[in-house]
Amino acid sequence: MPRRRPRALRAEHPVSRVWGPTPPFRIHGLSAGASLAVHQAEHLSDSFNIHPGATDSALRRYRAFLHPPGRRPLYPRESFCSCTWCSFDDVRHARDVLERLPERARAELGRLMRPMDAVFLRRTLPDPFVHRRQWRTGFWWYRRLVDRSEWG
Ligand SMILES: [Zn+2]
Repeated sequence: MPRRRPRALRAEHPVSRVWGPTPPFRIHGLSAGASLAVHQAEHLSDSFNIHPGATDSALRRYRAFLHPPGRRPLYPRESFCSCTWCSFDDVRHARDVLERLPERARAELGRLMRPMDAVFLRRTLPDPFVHRRQWRTGFWWYRRLVDRSEWG
């Protein structure tokens, strides 16, 4: 395979004047339009957790968590560090990020996530003590058994 010349590579990754040095990229499984909507929302977001690329990271993390073959139950695990990057160690954080999407991308992402949510529900176990907990139990993905107590 001939090596591609640098100019050809540059043309594929134009630097956007509007959205900074990170070119809008296509999020796997999303249309170009929805990817762009996500990209713009991430750039404009002032939320600590919604940084450029957050949605893509969240999708990858969610897929990776559900990936192990077999029927053994899966247990979400808390992240030991709460910085923007390490937070993704906790798959529930990834699911949070995917919930906070711009309207334009939500329908498409919803279609992508419904089967993943179904697998998550099938492979995780309900937390029998969820009624004793206060922390984020409004989200169904926080009402599953984790492999470490939320209180350490
Ligand atoms: Zn960290």
